[in-house]
Amino acid sequence: MFEIFLALDWQQLAIGLGIATVLAAVAWWLRMLTPSGAFAAVLLGGITFGLGGYPAAIVLVAFFASSSVLTRLFSRRKQGLAKTFSKGGRRDWAQVLANGGPSVLALILGALGWLPYGIAWPAFAAALAAATADTWATELGVLSPGQPQLITTGQRVPKGTSGGVSLVGSLAAAAGALLIALVAGFVAAGFMHPGFLLAVTLAGLLGSFFDSLIGATVQAIYYCPDCKKETEQHPTHSCGAATTRRRGWAWMDNDWVNFLSGLFGILVLLAAATFLL
Ligand SMILES: [Zn+2]
Repeated sequence: MFEIFLALDWQQLAIGLGIATVLAAVAWWLRMLTPSGAFAAVLLGGITFGLGGYPAAIVLVAFFASSSVLTRLFSRRKQGLAKTFSKGGRRDWAQVLANGGPSVLALILGALGWLPYGIAWPAFAAALAAATADTWATELGVLSPGQPQLITTGQRVPKGTSGGVSLVGSLAAAAGALLIALVAGFVAAGFMHPGFLLAVTLAGLLGSFFDSLIGATVQAIYYCPDCKKETEQHPTHSCGAATTRRRGWAWMDNDWVNFLSGLFGILVLLAAATFLL
């Protein structure tokens, strides 16, 4: 593992791109990815395997597989909420880059020697822990019996509202982040210790809270005049009506929020590393 980070191995990168192409083709065939999403997944998956080898690829698969399973579970109970969310089940290139970009950035910084391996590996895990925590919170939080509360004011809001948090969602976020921490610790020799598990889980959980914080403040939120409800969808709602921006910055869409949450997870990890690693 250590050597993989120190020298970019072109053969390993070629194998990674080959494996990623096969997996992305299957994901596209299963309608989990759009064609552009499959292309982005080949790039991210290939670089992940090329720089981090099997350990990094296994952590990436743990994120993707667990998130895909949760997205499909309870789909009947979530049907009424689907209109609130911005995109359907198929991931496009922006969604793939938003979720996988920060973790790949950590690997690249490690390969360039700008981050030591002892930090690059936890940072890679932290970014994927944040992505996993956010997905688990979104997918399982809707099963919460009560209404979520805005992370900023505590005001009760309808399920699916950006910036809304619940106890069930937060526990799901912590569980998702812990899963990634356990997998990342297990596959990389020397990382299965309490400080690593705590730092990565904390980074993932705070990353998902950061996601909610942006959702409650500066994320672009639109309004559908026909359905009379808020949505992340733009320019048209799933019902076909044109949506108008109600609050937030126009460029701050869900993909940017996810990308920045991953980066925030890395920052939390770097801060926690000073006393936990
Ligand atoms: Zn509508």
